[in-house]
Amino acid sequence: MRAPTLFDRIIQGELPSHRVYEDDLVVAFLDIAPQSRGHLLVVPRESAATMAELSDESAAAIGRVLPRLCRAAAIASGSPLSNILQNNGRGAGQAVPHVHFHVIPRTGPRGKPFSGLETDWRPGSLGGAEGQRIAEHIRIALEAEAEAPAGGDA
Ligand code: 5GP
Repeated sequence: MRAPTLFDRIIQGELPSHRVYEDDLVVAFLDIAPQSRGHLLVVPRESAATMAELSDESAAAIGRVLPRLCRAAAIASGSPLSNILQNNGRGAGQAVPHVHFHVIPRTGPRGKPFSGLETDWRPGSLGGAEGQRIAEHIRIALEAEAEAPAGGDA
């Protein structure tokens, strides 16, 4: 059993937050340092550090509620534009080792400075042979997991 994370403590109500949603498996609250108005964190009650460690049940519960939370954040921000961000591991920008999805509205009139997620997207290229090799690698990994499910799920 690992030590409670910051988000465990928020979920338990030991630390304050602006909670906007909760059910048996998921809690959502405002990010304390928002990128834009309505920036939400959507967090499983399950204390998994990364998506790779999360149960199918918690992942499904998050997936069920994300569209609703996007719609609500769009109303609160006044913008239908948003990004969903989910970091896994410190090297990937994850500061809190408890799975969380950011819902980040992108606000600001067209042609004016935006508020929201800044991305530095650098497209690579994928050759046909390389694509086949990578896809095959991933399919084999999926088949292996289907035969020996990680975490006992599926
Ligand atoms: P990460 O970098 O791990 O994907 O994102 C962690 C997020 O948690 C950051 O956006 C940060 O602002 C937010 N955060 C950190 N501490 C707290 C806190 O005590 N309360 C809330 N509501 N958000 C927090």
